[in-house]
Amino acid sequence: MGDNDRIGIMGGTFNPIHYGHLRVSEEVREGIGLGKVLFVPSGNPPLKARDLAPAEHRFEMARRAVATNPHFELSDIECREQKKSYTVETLAALRAMHPGKEFYFILGIDSFLEIPSWHRPEKLLELTNFVVVSRPGFSFSTVAPWVRADLSLLSSLDTSGRAVFKGSLRNGRDVYLMNVTSLPISATTIRGLIRKGKSVKYLLPESVEYFIISHKLYSEGSDHL
Ligand code: ATP
Ligand code: MG
Repeated sequence: MGDNDRIGIMGGTFNPIHYGHLRVSEEVREGIGLGKVLFVPSGNPPLKARDLAPAEHRFEMARRAVATNPHFELSDIECREQKKSYTVETLAALRAMHPGKEFYFILGIDSFLEIPSWHRPEKLLELTNFVVVSRPGFSFSTVAPWVRADLSLLSSLDTSGRAVFKGSLRNGRDVYLMNVTSLPISATTIRGLIRKGKSVKYLLPESVEYFIISHKLYSEGSDHL
């Protein structure tokens, strides 16, 4: 199977999208050989969090951010819906749209650990392979219950900086555990900086920064605080 038959899926709220998301996706694409990475911004949950920008704004910021990379694409499959979509349903729909392709769901250790609390986790684990990437503050040892691998190997990923380990989930699906460039950037931090009137330069693309400023997102007194 060539790279073009392997599609990375990068899901998130992207509230807003930042260089952590972008750099991780690029390193995974090159590191394990993916034809493209499809970014999937989430829709609006029924109970909107206080500082969650509307789906159409989060989509537009992601559109601007991925526009400069020919290997990145954007999907509106979740955010064109009025309601929140379940990842398991999104993956099933994407598979139907791309017959014959293999999917690699890219996520940080923090998100991977949350999967058991998602809708129909076992079904989701059947639908796709996974690429779990390092994230500052989280260690690979914590994924031990879900991955067929010795604890010593997982610890060596945490300590030795070993680049990538290809293993399998308990259901036989491929899982790559990958050390990526450590970027302690989060959307929460970015929103906090904006709220305090501080600069967010060099944490996210300028085109995204301009959008945030012109739509007054995340700042005191804005509609989307
Ligand atoms: P928030 O602080 O609002 O949760 P976030 O920065 O975690 O935002 P999300 O949209 O929640 O961004 O994350 C989407 C995916 O990107 C998740 O799988 C998350 O683990 C991963 N991710 C985000 N930032 C980084 C980073 N700096 N390094 C590695 N992975 C990251
Ligand atoms: Mg997050």
